[in-house]
Amino acid sequence: MGDICNGKTETSQQSHSPTTNSKRLDYISWHEYFMATAFLAAKRSKDPVTQVGACIVNEENKIVGIGYNGMPIGCNDDDFPWGKEGKETKHLYVCHAEMNAIVNKNSTSLNNCRMYVALFPCNECAKFVIQSGIREVIYMSDKYAYKRSTVASKKMFDAAGVKYWQYVPKNNKLIIDFSEINWTNMQQVPISPFKNNEEQL
Ligand SMILES: [Zn+2]
Repeated sequence: MGDICNGKTETSQQSHSPTTNSKRLDYISWHEYFMATAFLAAKRSKDPVTQVGACIVNEENKIVGIGYNGMPIGCNDDDFPWGKEGKETKHLYVCHAEMNAIVNKNSTSLNNCRMYVALFPCNECAKFVIQSGIREVIYMSDKYAYKRSTVASKKMFDAAGVKYWQYVPKNNKLIIDFSEINWTNMQQVPISPFKNNEEQL
């Protein structure tokens, strides 16, 4: 997968030695980074069945919106239903990840942005995507491709010229290990040179 930002070719999964003077080569690609960000956001979801995250990125590869599926603001997670059966279902209330990522945007416009999302957007979210100016949707799973809502999404995306394609990760797992940084060892903190200078003055 090429680097989107500056045209350099990214090569992942190559080992590197910390003693060399060259850059490390096992860094993650832009696609991996943004899809992983969407997956990380999904970890915030309270939905017991489906956790979805979405990450919106502008043409400069800067993240401009993140969201996950959840109850609307002020609607308590414990008071509203999370089930799919009966008169009261989550479908009446839950805001999807795509919609939340769009309304959470931290830039004026989402024109020409792309969205990374775990699951192919439903028809309601597809409307949001189109109206917001997002031009590309990168998804992982299209497991509801048979549903009328997904068929409608694709029909609208095709008509509006929104590109969509499936991201197939090179690695099934991307592990975040908080212990990598050895955060409990305070001796790692370097002495501030400014502090020394001030002392000398
Ligand atoms: Zn949706």
